Amino acid sequence: MANCTINECDKPVKAKQMCSMHHQRWRRHGDPVVTKVRQSAEPTACKWVNCDRLTVSKGFCSKHYYIYRMQNVQKVQVNS
Ligand SMILES: [Zn+2]
Ligand SMILES: [Zn+2]
Repeated sequence: MANCTINECDKPVKAKQMCSMHHQRWRRHGDPVVTKVRQSAEPTACKWVNCDRLTVSKGFCSKHYYIYRMQNVQKVQVNS
């Protein structure tokens, strides 16, 4: 079984010696390695240590954003 010819991609070939993802990119953009999606539109992982859930706000996932907000509230109360 042949693998995708794109660098560091070892998914099985779907068409044109590329996997389905890279073939789709090639069809859409004319270039299989292009990533034209703006970074802000890409879902990013939570910046909390050992958490890879998707960000909802301020770089945290919903659970850790809640904790982050709670901690900030406490800090404000302590400082004032
Ligand atoms: Zn590929
Ligand atoms: Zn998180």
